[in-house]
Amino acid sequence: MAWDFETDPAFQEKLDWVRAFVEEELIPLEPIIGDFTPQQWREVQEPLKQQVKDQGLWACHLEKELGGQGFGQLPLAQMNLITGRCPFAQEIFGNMAPDSGNSELLAEGGTHEQKEKWLWPNLRGELRSAFAITEPFVASTDPTQITTSAVLDGDEWVINGRKWMITNASIADFIIFMVVTDPEEVVYKRCSMIVVEKGTPGMEILRDIPTMHHPHTEYGLIGNHAEVLLNDVRVPRDNLVGERGGGFILSQVRLGPGRIHHATRWLAEAERAFDMLCERTKSRTSFGKGYEKHQMIQEYIADSRMELEMARLLTLRAAWKMDRDGHHAARADIAMVKVNNATVLYNVIDRALQVHGSLGYSCDMPLELMYRSARMAPLVDGANEVHKVTIAKEELKRYAAVDGWPSEHIPTRREAARQRFAHLLEARG
Ligand SMILES: Cc1cc2nc3c(=O)[nH]c(=O)nc-3n(C[C@H](O)[C@H](O)[C@H](O)COP(=O)(O)OP(=O)(O)OC[C@H]3O[C@@H](n4cnc5c(N)ncnc54)[C@H](O)[C@@H]3O)c2cc1C
Repeated sequence: MAWDFETDPAFQEKLDWVRAFVEEELIPLEPIIGDFTPQQWREVQEPLKQQVKDQGLWACHLEKELGGQGFGQLPLAQMNLITGRCPFAQEIFGNMAPDSGNSELLAEGGTHEQKEKWLWPNLRGELRSAFAITEPFVASTDPTQITTSAVLDGDEWVINGRKWMITNASIADFIIFMVVTDPEEVVYKRCSMIVVEKGTPGMEILRDIPTMHHPHTEYGLIGNHAEVLLNDVRVPRDNLVGERGGGFILSQVRLGPGRIHHATRWLAEAERAFDMLCERTKSRTSFGKGYEKHQMIQEYIADSRMELEMARLLTLRAAWKMDRDGHHAARADIAMVKVNNATVLYNVIDRALQVHGSLGYSCDMPLELMYRSARMAPLVDGANEVHKVTIAKEELKRYAAVDGWPSEHIPTRREAARQRFAHLLEARG
């Protein structure tokens, strides 16, 4: 019988613990994070991570049989709906992107040696990682266009190319690169994944790219996005992850679950903005009445609540389907969650910011940072437009072309209906 986690008191206790831990230990740290050096920040995190490990909640994204603490997508979604309230909670819970996706990838496609060398230390939080597909000179929403190449020379791959926007590359101990190994093959068999370790000659981290989220970026901070040059980088042949030419298939293992994990946490962040929206509404008056009596503000709240509830149910259904039918079968559901939650996140933060007026725009509130950061949601994990293509393709599988549409089709249907229901027409007289 399936585990009924919704009524399992032990699991509900765990969720209560997560809720209290996020609210009381993590969120209060937020205002002073910028005051820590990267080294101090690592030291601050250690005891917090230990508490999570003591609760058996570390690295829950990965199923137990793959080496994590995981318990399935649906219970994980319940947890992410809480941890997503704090932007750095995923790091404290050991399921931070891109490490989480990379651990899924290595668990699925890695050899025993690769797991020993990279996966287990990564899961223990001892090694950091990055994942590199995107390139500056080609539209990387279509990764079949990437040009970074790897050529076998004896027992070594020789890699040349340039990647950019690679999250955590400047602090990563190893980076998994998507590269072209078989240019003569059919498109979906051209690419493979190869690991390059930090310090390998020829790999140069050119810069951490300033972004909307981190405009004044400091080199080497977690969550930054780097530009990486590969110039005759040589790595052992055994650094190939999975099969040669299997890069695109393997990337689906990594990207599918990762997308829903991020999109679930966006909802938690949106819920936090919703709390601020409602607290502000209850605390302020204008034109002789409380904000709660202004109908346009009521509409903001009602729209936000409806969007959040629809998104939550869509998300939980997708997670349930992943557990029941597998990631591939749920790909359109995951795409819907990704697109929809990105929009809901942005909408709710925008309304909360608006109702906070100048305070919302100021850096005294976290809303301006949340707003800037939310703009990445429609772009990352595949542009929303591309996910909509997936959704539309799945939907259209259930339909066929209609012959003679519309000039012949409509009269034919009318004639068929007349004949079939002649007795009804006769009865009418
Ligand atoms: C914060 C952040 C972190 C990132 N981290 C990583 C990382 O760790 N590793 C990594 O490899 N990449 C990372 N990326 C890159 C990200 O995956 C790419 O930006 C994304 O895949 C889009 O590729 P592109 O930037 O080349 O844009 P393009 O491919 O040029 O696309 C730009 C826009 O064109 C439009 N478009 C493209 N194709 C279609 C279509 N078929 N139909 C309709 N419209 C379309 C969309 O509006 C799309 O947003 C990150 C990006 C950001 C913003």
